[in-house]
Amino acid sequence: MGVLRKFFTKENERLILSAIKEAESHTSGEIRVRVEKKAGRHPMRTARKAFVRLGMRKTKLRNGVLFFLGVNQRRFVVLGDDGINNNVPEGFWGSVRDVVQEHFQKGLFSEGLAEGIRRAGQQLATFFPCERGDMDELANAISYAREGRGK
Ligand code: CA
Ligand code: CA
Repeated sequence: MGVLRKFFTKENERLILSAIKEAESHTSGEIRVRVEKKAGRHPMRTARKAFVRLGMRKTKLRNGVLFFLGVNQRRFVVLGDDGINNNVPEGFWGSVRDVVQEHFQKGLFSEGLAEGIRRAGQQLATFFPCERGDMDELANAISYAREGRGK
């Protein structure tokens, strides 16, 4: 098993996944977590690529949110699709990022992500309330980059 998959314990994963489930019960927004070794020199660009590759631009309301973690540099990026970015007030992402980063500095990675997901979920619920017949458009998951061969 690679390093990435050991980054979170099963318990950590449960904490994160239950935060996603809880958040998505109040909003049509779709939240996912991506874990890679390197965020690279341009973490936002790396995260955007992951966003597209994970099919996160395919939600009906364009309201997917990705929590991206580059474990080597402990870099964290949160980004949302156009539907969200066109609606949320300024400082929306900044406030989510700050709370996650505060936890990260104490080494509380899963707790930080769970808290960030909770905050994002609360705000998402304002702009994208859960509609009747809401579908889980993007399966709730922590996605790990594949490891090996120079990556
Ligand atoms: Ca949904
Ligand atoms: Ca989902």
